[in-house]
Amino acid sequence: MQLVFASNNHNKIKEIQSILKGSIQLLSLDEIGCYEEIPETADTIEGNAILKANYVTEKYGYDCFADDTGLEVQALNGEPGVYSARYAGEQRNADDNMNKLLNALEAQNDRSAQFKTVIALNIKGEQHLFTGIAKGNIILEKKGDHGFGYDPIFQPENYEETFAELSSDIKNKISHRAKATEQLIDYLNSTK
Ligand code: IMP
Repeated sequence: MQLVFASNNHNKIKEIQSILKGSIQLLSLDEIGCYEEIPETADTIEGNAILKANYVTEKYGYDCFADDTGLEVQALNGEPGVYSARYAGEQRNADDNMNKLLNALEAQNDRSAQFKTVIALNIKGEQHLFTGIAKGNIILEKKGDHGFGYDPIFQPENYEETFAELSSDIKNKISHRAKATEQLIDYLNSTK
């Protein structure tokens, strides 16, 4: 069975492929000839994952899964959420985004936040959603230089370090993306 991952991140694809049973062949977007940018115009994380998966299924006819992630900050009513990548503007700059968030939280005591990843899977005419959440806090200033995005200011619960201070091995075990991916893989491995 062939299944498209609506991504061109070949490392991610290889990693998931190695955990799947041999009967499922994962394809990237370029492998199916999809080179255009897929619209991400929904106003929720779920909505964007669904938009991307549906785009591939409807336009290219493949079973497909797609993910979308955002950082939801409690004191900001869930912002930046679906707008995490472009929180401080279309330049999509991680430092600008973190600075804007630190400023927005300056007078806040409640600094709790969570990363949320949603994976939408279109398979055999059905749609399934898998959600992975990593809870934690936004710290007062950036620490660490691993990872990407908001990692330097996000301290996952039960850890003293930020995501940017933890090794990628540890982050990849406890992250929102890891949790959503684990559910996807369990589901795929349970179906023939
Ligand atoms: P995407 O949907 O995976 O492209 O994620 C959207 C945005 O959320 C990224 O541009 C980052 O700003 C942020 N983000 C997603 N995952 C992470 C993460 O694991 N660490 C830090 N920031 C993240």
